[in-house]
This record gives sequence, C-alpha cells and structure tokens, in this order.
Amino acid sequence: MKSKAVDYEARLNSLKLDLTYVIARNELELYYQPKVSAETNRIIGAEALLRWNHPKWGIIGPNEFIPLAEKTGFINEIGKWVKKNACRQNKVWQDAGLLKIPVSINLSASRFLERDLITHVMDTLKETKLDPQYLEIEITETLLLENEEVVFSVLDELRNLGIKIALDDFGTGYSSLASLNRFKGKIDILKIDRSFIQGLSSSLEEDSNFIVKMIIQLSHQLKMNVIAEGVETNEQLAVLQKYNCSMIQGYLFSKPIPADEFVKLLKKDNLE
Ligand code: C2E
Ligand code: CA
Ligand code: CA
Ligand code: CA
Repeated sequence: MKSKAVDYEARLNSLKLDLTYVIARNELELYYQPKVSAETNRIIGAEALLRWNHPKWGIIGPNEFIPLAEKTGFINEIGKWVKKNACRQNKVWQDAGLLKIPVSINLSASRFLERDLITHVMDTLKETKLDPQYLEIEITETLLLENEEVVFSVLDELRNLGIKIALDDFGTGYSSLASLNRFKGKIDILKIDRSFIQGLSSSLEEDSNFIVKMIIQLSHQLKMNVIAEGVETNEQLAVLQKYNCSMIQGYLFSKPIPADEFVKLLKKDNLE
C-alpha cells in the first residue's frame, strides 16, 4: 500500500512537469475578485487571481503551484501570461462600455527583480492599449526587505509609467507601523492582511481593532489608500466603516470568480 507521503511526492513531481506545459495547453485561468467601496458597495476595482485547470486534478490554487513555479523558474513565463491576460481582459471590459476600474495583479518577488520587468510591462500596455492608470501591481513586504534600493528604483519606474503599487498582506511582514514612513511616495495602497480583519469585533477592547485602526489612520496621514482584505462578515464591515476604511475586499461581497461571472457584476453596477 502506498503511503500518503508518497502520493504527495508523486503529485508534486507530476505537477512540476505539467507546469511547463500550462501555457501551451491553455490551462491557466484568471479569476477576478471585486474590490468595493465601503460606503456605496459599488465595485471600484478587481484583483486577478490565478487558477490552474488541471486535466487530472481539477482546479489547483496558486498557493500550491506558484511555489513550484518559482523553484523551476517557470514563474517568469507565468507572470508574463498573467500580466498580458489581465490587461487584455480589462481593456475588453472597457471597450464594451463597462465601468472603468483598475485591475491588480500579484507579482512574485523573484519576478520583480528580473531585468526585463519594466520593458515587458511597457510592451504589454502598448500591445493591449490599456491606460496604465488601470493597472495595479501588488507586492509583498518580503520584497522590500530583499534589496530596498533596487526595489525602490523599480517601483519609481513603474509609478512613473502611471501604474499604482499596492503593498499586500500588510502587517504580517517585518515592517513595523513606523517603517511605513519610508514607503511614502513608493506605495499607493496598503492592503491590511486578512488575519487582522478576522480578529475585528464590535467591542473596542480587541487588540486587532487597535492595530487596524492605527494602520488606517497612518495610511491617511501618509496619503496612501487603504483596503481591507478578507472581509467576511457584516460585523467586520461595520468596524471598518467606523474607522473610515474606504475600500473592502472579501467573501462578504464575492469570492474570486471567472471573467464571465465578474462581467455580470460589472453590468449590474452599471445599471444601478
Ligand atoms: P493574496 O494576494 O493575499 O490573495 C488573497 C487570497 O485570499 C486569495 O487566495 C483569495 O481567494 C483569498 N480571499 C479573498 N477574500 C477572502 C475572504 O473573505 N476569506 C478568505 N478566507 N479568503 C479570501 P488565492 O486566490 O488562493 O491566492 C493565494 C495567493 O496566491 C495570493 O494571496 C497570492 O499571493 C498568490 N497568487 C495568486 N495569483 C497570483 C499570480 O498571478 N501571481 C503570483 N505571483 N501570485 C499569485
Ligand atoms: Ca494580492
Ligand atoms: Ca493579500
Ligand atoms: Ca497572501
């Protein structure tokens, strides 16, 4: 009898091999999760999240295959595919006369440090004819830890193109609230990590409330936008509204959904 560990190994090894064919076999798909205004509930943006439609295993989430792709180096090809498809899709929606919204993509740290990143971003924008203000790039704090000088100069180049930069999973990394000051003028949007949002409660005594409140206040002072991710309950929403958090993302409004479902949400918003 085979053990679970052997099965797991086997799956990983076969996935690693299959991964090199995902683009040629057209197995990647972007799902879109709406970002909404905390005041009006209207869609103000979307995050593109990668899915792998595997012929044998079904839908595989990015937490499983992105690390594999990083190990094999194939993450570069995947990153290019994501950027191109997210921009192209957004342009299709805009050309259809739907609400114009920024779409964000996630960039892995290794991809960020590739020399051809800026050229590829520029080529993609030109090719898809998407106005740069509708592209957002989400990076994580670990990246800023790596090589601050190089990263800051790449961030400057991206922002000079008109692209917005979001700091993802904020609060989980090394950076203290105080270090936020250094990101001023480099980061446009702070995404408060889900772990803090989960801990929110309507009672003011909670530590989580305090941290979230401080992050929101600080971001306002530093003239950054702030979004709460992983909002699942009306109670969490109410607390965030009280602290003047203007943007919300989470299952309360919608899970990440395929493009053809997302377009229905956009159309509904257009009509209201
Ligand atoms: P992330 O960027 O922090 O994305 C948010 C994750 O939280 C997504 O998981 C999303 O489906 C999930 N989520 C959103 N709202 C809620 C909620 O209310 N409750 C709960 N429990 N979860 C929520 P997903 O799609 O599995 O993505 C996982 C991670 O994979 C992402 O975390 C991101 O780091 C990475 N990833 C996704 N797409 C890409 C990509 O195209 N390129 C790269 N490099 N990484 C990606
Ligand atoms: Ca993200
Ligand atoms: Ca996140
Ligand atoms: Ca994350």
